[in-house]
Order: sequence, then structure tokens, then C-alpha cells
Amino acid sequence: MLHKRTKIVCTLGPASSDLVTLEKMIRAGMNVARLNFSHGTYPQFEKIIKNIRQLSKKLDTPIAILQDLQGPKIRIGEMPENGVEIKANEEIILSTNHDKFSSKNGVKIFPVQYKELHKDVTKNDLILIDDGLIEVKVTKVEGTSIHAIVQTDGVIKSRKGINVPTASLAADPLTSKDLEDLAFGMKHDVDYVALSFVREASDIIRLKKILRDKKCAAKVMAKIERHEAVKNLEEIVKVSDALMVARGDLGIEIPAENVPIVQKRTILLANIYGKPVITATHMLNSMIENPRATRAEISDAANAVFDHSDALMLSNETAVGKYPVEAVETLARVAHATEENLEKYEHLLPFKIKKFDLPISSATCLNATKLAVDINADFIVAISLSGYTAQHIAKHRIYKPIITFTNSEKVRNQLALVWGLNHIFVKKMNFKNASQEVAQFLRTEKIAKKGQEVVTVINASKDENIITTTII
Ligand code: PGA
Ligand code: MN
Repeated sequence: MLHKRTKIVCTLGPASSDLVTLEKMIRAGMNVARLNFSHGTYPQFEKIIKNIRQLSKKLDTPIAILQDLQGPKIRIGEMPENGVEIKANEEIILSTNHDKFSSKNGVKIFPVQYKELHKDVTKNDLILIDDGLIEVKVTKVEGTSIHAIVQTDGVIKSRKGINVPTASLAADPLTSKDLEDLAFGMKHDVDYVALSFVREASDIIRLKKILRDKKCAAKVMAKIERHEAVKNLEEIVKVSDALMVARGDLGIEIPAENVPIVQKRTILLANIYGKPVITATHMLNSMIENPRATRAEISDAANAVFDHSDALMLSNETAVGKYPVEAVETLARVAHATEENLEKYEHLLPFKIKKFDLPISSATCLNATKLAVDINADFIVAISLSGYTAQHIAKHRIYKPIITFTNSEKVRNQLALVWGLNHIFVKKMNFKNASQEVAQFLRTEKIAKKGQEVVTVINASKDENIITTTII
């Protein structure tokens, strides 16, 4: 298997649910399986989870299972089979009181599934329909009827998404469907739960509490895809376990040309706080249909690696595309080639960022990383029960093999998402003589050779943080 440092998240679907395809994808470099709860049924998800766990064992490769909750995606209601055409300057009504399309006195009435939309929008707000393809401008709101003027010609079809970049929608980020899906996810012991359309830190805190109350060890990922989330970015990063730059919706909610800027800011903050971050959507979009990616797509993927993403995500490319395995192979090659180059650009490492109020455990990881570079150690080892120490070493993007020991299978799977963590062992270590135990393990497993140097980091407790150096 190609030992790239950057991880690959694959959205699974009809094109990638069977054991044969999944095995090829894992061998090609997939590290995380994303289940998108906007589509699919419970029996389908059950089958995928079973297949992933089975292959993970067979190939002795940790694979994190990421449950992606749909969240309050606002949609058009039921429309006639081929949709309804609208013309620029036409006046239409979006109604939260209708379930089906109708028309009255020649005015077309489009149903909206979210029953509160009329309370959240006012005159001059822009409403975007179908991934921003259609734009209408609100002229007035009368009861449950939103009157609007169409800005560009188009066709509105059933269940197309709605975004309102100029307003703040009150819709709860955890819908009743999400809560039901979450119960399914907890029952199947998923490793991460992603929350869509997060507005602020409290959205994440609420989800974490639900998981904690049910004694569920899943980590929580915030999808950055709303304009409010961009405003509250650092607070969201602080409370989340992981982040996703969800460029699909983000590019509708804010001007598309600002997406690369928000991508860089989100990744930088995630790096600083030691939280894994995924760059997502449209990564190799043309590979849904074609066996080869475009130069622009390859370049976007490479730049996401240069930005220090932990992981790159494939969506429809692997869920419904014609070339799921080839798409993973392509990303793996791009990641590998870019990392070889990135290694030379030490000035890009986030640890150059001045920040002097680090928690001791985080500072210990920083200094162990520096020490490993200074003495040109062969390995850096994290004894990491929760994953924290391993993540805070990896965040410095150190190009030395990082060996992680944890005592939990769950943490091993969760760390599959994190950049650079390719050697994760479930093994209890005695803190008192951990560095000797480590040396012995690396020797007997033939990972290290006699004479090689190892830096080991243990954050045993709040007031016991240890860095040791050992020669094998
Ligand atoms: P989605 O999220 O695929 O669930 O919409 C990703 C995105 O919006 O980019
Ligand atoms: Mn989205």
C-alpha cells in the first residue's frame, strides 16, 4: 500500500458498496468511509458498515466510519415530473403552506418544505435554488407567501435545495430525521458524526451532549458550509473534534471566489488546534463520468495538500461515479507527489506560527517534534490513549514516521482520518518504562533497526508530560 500521509475520505453509495470494489478502494488508499444520510436507506448503510468492518480486519487497516447527517437542508416540495420553467423578471410565490406545485391567477406557487422560511426572509433577500443555478429576489412576504422576482431563466424541479445567503435561517441544525439517523449511527458504533449547516459552537456542543449522554464515543465533525459558520469559525473549531470544508454548499452561501480563502483559514485554525480537517466536494468531479481527472482538479487536490488538509474527500466520484477505484488511485498519487515536495518547504509548517499560551500537553508535542527534527530521529512515537498526543504531533506535519500506541480500537479507527498517522497499534503501555517497551516492540516487529533513534511522547496526566529519546 502506498504510504501517503494525506488521508482519503470516500463517500460510499451504489457504485462502491460491494466487497470487491471496497477492497480495491482501501488498497488504493481510502482511509475513511463516509455515509451520506441525505441519500440511502438503513439496510444499505448496514451492509456498507458490515463490509467496511470486515475488510478493515482482513487488511489490518483502520478505517473510520463517518456518518454525515443531512441537517436542515431546505428544499422545494413536490413538483410536476419535468419541473416548471420560469423566466427572468417573472413574479412567483414560494409558499410554506403548500406541499405541491400549483398556480393561481397565472402566478406560479412553488412549495417549500421548510415551514418557517417566510419568517426568516424579508424584502430584497436573495433566494438561491438548485445549487445556486436559479436566483430569485424577495419583493414582499405576505403570511406564508414569499413573493419574489426571478433573476435568471431556469427550471425548478422536485426537492431541489434552497440557500439564502443574505439571511440567517432559524432552522435547527438537528432535525427530527437527524435524531433518528443519529440513533442508527450510535447503534452501529460509527467513529465520527458530521453535522451539516452548523451555525455556531453551541450546535456542536448540543450534539456532543447527546452522544455523551448515550455513552457514545463518536467524535463530532463540523461542516463549514454556512455564512454564519464562517463568522463563528474559531469558536466552532475550538469545540469540534474535526472539521470539513464543505465547499458545495459553502460556495452558494458565500461568493464562490471566497471559498479558497475560507478553505485556507479553516485549515490553518484546525491545524493550530490539532483538529483533523477535510477538504471536500467537487474534488475530481469530472471522474464521475471520465477515467481521467482534469489538470485543474489535480491542481486543486494538490493545493488542498499544500494547505495542510488532513484529508481529501470524494463525493459522487465514489458514491455513484463510473470510476470509484481510479478516483482513489488518482488522489493517492497526487497526495504522494505533493507530500514529497512539501517536505522541502519547511517554512510552511504550522509550528512556525507564534502562539505562546499552548496547553502543556500540546507544547510537549510541539517540542518533541522539534527535538525529533533537531536530532534527526528516525521515528517519533505517541503514546496516546484518546488520540490527542498523536494529533498534536501530526499537526506539525513532521515528515518522520509517526508511530502511535493506543489502548482502544475505536481511537485507532478515528485516527485513520488524521494526516501522517499510518502506524497505529492497539497496545497497552506501561507509562513508567514506556520508552523501553516501545524500543522492544519496534525491534521485534522489525519496524526499527539497531542504532536508530526514537523520540517518545507521553502525556500521562495533566502534570506529567514526558519526552524521552532512545536508541534502538
Ligand atoms: P453535502 O456536504 O455533500 O452533504 O452537501 C458537502 C458540501 O456541501 O460540500
Ligand atoms: Mn453540504
